[in-house]
Amino acid sequence: MASRDNFSYGTKRTLAIRAAHFCSNPQCLKLTAGPHSDPNRSLATGHAAHIHAAAEGGPRFDSNQSPTQRKAITNGLWLCRECGDIVDKDGSPHTADLLRQWKADHESMISEVRTKGYAESLALLQSRRVEPAVAKKVIGALEDRRALWQTFDAEFPDRVRQSLDDLRSRLVGLRYELADGSPLDQILLSLTKTIHTFFNTVESSDLTQLRCDSTNPEWRRFSDALATLRKAIGLQISNLAGVYNITLSADLVTLVPQVATL
Ligand SMILES: [Zn+2]
Repeated sequence: MASRDNFSYGTKRTLAIRAAHFCSNPQCLKLTAGPHSDPNRSLATGHAAHIHAAAEGGPRFDSNQSPTQRKAITNGLWLCRECGDIVDKDGSPHTADLLRQWKADHESMISEVRTKGYAESLALLQSRRVEPAVAKKVIGALEDRRALWQTFDAEFPDRVRQSLDDLRSRLVGLRYELADGSPLDQILLSLTKTIHTFFNTVESSDLTQLRCDSTNPEWRRFSDALATLRKAIGLQISNLAGVYNITLSADLVTLVPQVATL
């Protein structure tokens, strides 16, 4: 049996925290940590996955790596258990480059969601609960695009682009109803930035021509970028709805990250 270059406890813990305990697969919305029904215990359903396998014969094994490189944090990403199994399956199309991309996109999305402006704005909103009428309109604007959130794989990419363009204009319009730099204004700014990041990622593709094809790297990039966008917007919506006690429609609830079941 080949020796395994496993990650240390510290490396696993750091990977989990950098991912904010969410699975890094852009198509997966699972939160991998949470409370157990026993108040003394917590749930942990995440997995520090190897990009290049820990042992010879494993998925994406790279014989040029030293044992130190193999157990380095740069060779790992945080996934839920199900996604950990999927990417390691025999004949899985998940290349090392794709997994590195997932990790980079997920970590930058988490950084964006927890930027100082955004986190402080949420805290302020929490304490003052100002601007509820506009907050409702923001959620309303997102609800209006429920088809985009639900059935995006079936949509034509160009329609997705149009829909996001409309959404961005509507959010920009709502910002005029708010004082510059007010907490809710900061959150709207963060939402429009998230949409902007999506457009930057897909700008080199001709979206009028792009069609669903999992073997096409351009489609995959589009589909992963859209999934990252959904996840980022989902995190922001759940925060906003929490602050204002707004009940989300069933469609929007599917966007909000879910706690993994054991
Ligand atoms: Zn997952």
